[in-house]
Amino acid sequence: MPPTIQLGRKVWTTPFSQTTLVCPPGAEGYTKDRGCSIGALPQYIVNATTDQQVATALRWATERNIRIVVKGTGHDLSGRSTGAYSLSIWTHNFKHVEHQPKWLLPDGSGTADVVICGSGNTWGSVYNAVHAMNRSVVGGEDATVGLGGLIQNGGHGLLSSHYGLASDQVYQVTVITADGRRLVANHKHNVDIFWAVRGAGGGQFGVITEFVLKTHPVPTNVITGGFYFYQDSPGVAASVGLVGFNTTTEAMDRKVQKMISSFANVSSENVLKVVNQTSEAYGYWAYTKPNFLSSASCGSSSLMSSRLLGRRELSDISMTDLAIYLRQASTSQSGTGSMLLFGLQGGPGPANTPQKMRGSVLPAWRSAYLHAMSYGASLNATADSRGAASIWSSLVRGEFGTRLEELGTKNRLLHE
Ligand SMILES: Cc1cc2nc3c(=O)[nH]c(=O)nc-3n(C[C@H](O)[C@H](O)[C@H](O)COP(=O)(O)OP(=O)(O)OC[C@H]3O[C@@H](n4cnc5c(N)ncnc54)[C@H](O)[C@@H]3O)c2cc1C
Repeated sequence: MPPTIQLGRKVWTTPFSQTTLVCPPGAEGYTKDRGCSIGALPQYIVNATTDQQVATALRWATERNIRIVVKGTGHDLSGRSTGAYSLSIWTHNFKHVEHQPKWLLPDGSGTADVVICGSGNTWGSVYNAVHAMNRSVVGGEDATVGLGGLIQNGGHGLLSSHYGLASDQVYQVTVITADGRRLVANHKHNVDIFWAVRGAGGGQFGVITEFVLKTHPVPTNVITGGFYFYQDSPGVAASVGLVGFNTTTEAMDRKVQKMISSFANVSSENVLKVVNQTSEAYGYWAYTKPNFLSSASCGSSSLMSSRLLGRRELSDISMTDLAIYLRQASTSQSGTGSMLLFGLQGGPGPANTPQKMRGSVLPAWRSAYLHAMSYGASLNATADSRGAASIWSSLVRGEFGTRLEELGTKNRLLHE
């Protein structure tokens, strides 16, 4: 008799032998005497290719009060593109990309150069397509991340500090709501849902099948530069990598020198050794050409927390306080080391985005300079990972997070 797999409330009989189950002994999730369980994976999956199929699936699940999850790539760091006992709608195959240099803006205010993209595209597939159109778009930095989650969560990348977030570039979406209605949402029609899907998080308001995105001229170049500094062991080591575009290596060198001299002011005892890095010039495409193998480390288990930091959190408090909070935020769970990553993805782009193009994205983006990510904790699936992680998170939150919240800063990102 073939073995059975317990799928939530149902029992399915598999025609495969025990050895061909997807969860063999020794694999993560395998429990002796119990075999495999479906865990948080969905019960039903619709591999949708048309709006009509999405609408039918949504209506079917809604009528039966079945949980719905939406999945593009599955990159969601908190696992929101999967869900126990759910119907999963997979948008991966909405892959079209069409250039419209003179797209009529729905509110009648003129035309725009846009790219019309199926929501199942990844940034890699969109970058390849817009490169062929001799245009650029604001997206993420990893080729394998999808439009669906990144845009609906704000979305930052190389061009965002200049042009604003990915969600600031959206002129229109096609969205299927939970009751199966297909809505075209823009500045004229269905304005509420149009506002909501531009930043408040993926999978909340419906299934987006298409985005209409603003395009930009291709930057003439990309310039990299920076420096690194370290303290003799034990101590901190930091790398400051800067990436600019439409600039020169001389301008980059001037910027780096200015930053290094400000270090001399705070490091009067010469405790920090600073090393300058040579500035380099690249063509825009040479620098940004998608590398679909870049997330080859996918599957590693780590915990991350992030904050958006602006003047209020960085300059309006004393340097002593700031040093304490940053030290706290880099607390290491293992005790052997930690990492803080700061991205300059805020600044003029998000700050200067016209009100009309701003959707529901976290308002802290408009005054943020830095996106700080802390990687001090890791998950060990075989040990008491949750316990260890919760100790780490209370350590970090205890000082850094609470202090920021006292400052009124509710600036935690949901997607990174
Ligand atoms: C390797 C890696 C690199 C990253 N780099 C960046 C970066 O440079 N910049 C940045 O801003 N973020 C970055 N992120 C974070 C990334 O933007 C988020 O994880 C994002 O939510 C992923 O979206 P997705 O569509 O690929 O993933 P999914 O897991 O498929 O979806 C994410 C969320 O969006 C929902 N969703 C997806 N598609 C749709 C749709 N069509 N309609 C409705 N809801 C939908 C899902 O239900 C889920 O809640 C990165 C993440 C990873 C893993």
